[in-house]
Amino acid sequence: MRKTLQQIQEELKNGTTTVSALVEEAHTVISEKDESIHAILGMYSNDLIESQIARAEQMLKDGTATALTGVPIVLKDNIVVKGERATAASKILADYTAVYDATVVKKLKEAGAILLGRANMDEFAMGGSTENSAFGVTKNPHDITRVAGGSSGGSSAVVAYGGVPVSLGSDTGGSIRQPASFCGIVGLKPTYGAVSRYGLMAMGSSLDQIGPFATCVDDVEAVFNIIKGADDLDATSIKDIPAVPVNSRKKIGVPRSFVEREGIDPEVLENFNASLEKLKSNGYEIVDIQLEHLEKALSVYYVVVFAEISSNMSRYDGIRYGLSLKDENASNSMLGVYFKTRTDGLGDEVRRRILLGTYVLSSGYYDAYYNKANIVRAMLREEFASVFKDVDAIAMPTSPIPAFKIGEKSHDPLAMYLADIFTVPINIVGVPAISLPSGVTKNNLPLSLQLIAPHFGESTLFSIGRDFEKIS
Ligand code: GLN
Repeated sequence: MRKTLQQIQEELKNGTTTVSALVEEAHTVISEKDESIHAILGMYSNDLIESQIARAEQMLKDGTATALTGVPIVLKDNIVVKGERATAASKILADYTAVYDATVVKKLKEAGAILLGRANMDEFAMGGSTENSAFGVTKNPHDITRVAGGSSGGSSAVVAYGGVPVSLGSDTGGSIRQPASFCGIVGLKPTYGAVSRYGLMAMGSSLDQIGPFATCVDDVEAVFNIIKGADDLDATSIKDIPAVPVNSRKKIGVPRSFVEREGIDPEVLENFNASLEKLKSNGYEIVDIQLEHLEKALSVYYVVVFAEISSNMSRYDGIRYGLSLKDENASNSMLGVYFKTRTDGLGDEVRRRILLGTYVLSSGYYDAYYNKANIVRAMLREEFASVFKDVDAIAMPTSPIPAFKIGEKSHDPLAMYLADIFTVPINIVGVPAISLPSGVTKNNLPLSLQLIAPHFGESTLFSIGRDFEKIS
């Protein structure tokens, strides 16, 4: 499906297409392409799909259609839909059925969207390649020997191969922007608090945000406008969002010394500089900025996120949700259930993070790691705020490398973590960022430009993003 949301609405209104035809087309493309890509873990029930089609048709008749009415959409499998399976790509939730709708799901349903299926991901969103899925890796539609990125690899790949026009993912340290970058599409990580996290399976609660994937900035904006907003069910969602003006003449800051680092792929750097040149020749002012604490962001992230993971994952104990296994040999039957369920039900990366998170939070180490990380986190926030007094946006590549080979990094967690260098600072600070396609490597692998705005500056990202789309 290679149509924009606007084209789809026009065609629905003038009768060139119907909601059922759109759904059928999505099914056809997914059944053709997904065998080799594996972006989709499963489809939602026919009952749900049929009722959504009926609702969308009614909205079109009533003249109450929105930008998403009748539009098939795929959700990352850590977002819950009442009565439907939600696995977070984990064996521990392989047969779990959700008992309520996430707030974003409620909003999508009200907008008349057609929730179609569940997208593959790294288990509980922990990873950057979708190789940590318990149900098999998602391949990159541009080169199936390579990863689609992660953790929202499925949500990204299905849009990239044309299965659906838009999808949702979640971004804790880059999981929307990096797969968007690897697959050559647009991905938005909204401001922390702009979109309700209610019904998103928690990973790092102070970092997680739900956001959209699409093939163009307009479509990402349209989905964001539908899913955003305050929610009483998420205490961290922001009630009074300040209006952030979009300046007409824009100044973009580049943390040069941070970007031009060892380990950055030469083609990524060359493409990044070319993108800046394009913006410059279209009237943008590009200036160097200093963000002294940026170098520490990766370390801060991997302390904070492990700590929050170890706490959030304690709910998967074999008692309340999903899988529950007995260990007949255990002397204490209760402990036996905990141990057996968690060792058999959770993958290596998830268990590694629970252990490391428990360690950084343990008494005696708490001040040395977790508290220190939070102090540096506050320093980073201040530094960003002061830079944003002078520039409208900050530019960096989304990833230091293009999509890598399947298996290349899966046995080296540190190499995998290092690839998050340009995305994690944004979640630490809580500001919004967008990943925009900016060309391809010699081998035709997608490259991207990441733009970062101050809190609630999404409109600035859309405005620069549209300019960038025109000139690239
Ligand atoms: N790759 C990062 C991690 O492994 C980010 C994951 C995410 O944003 N969910 O933690």
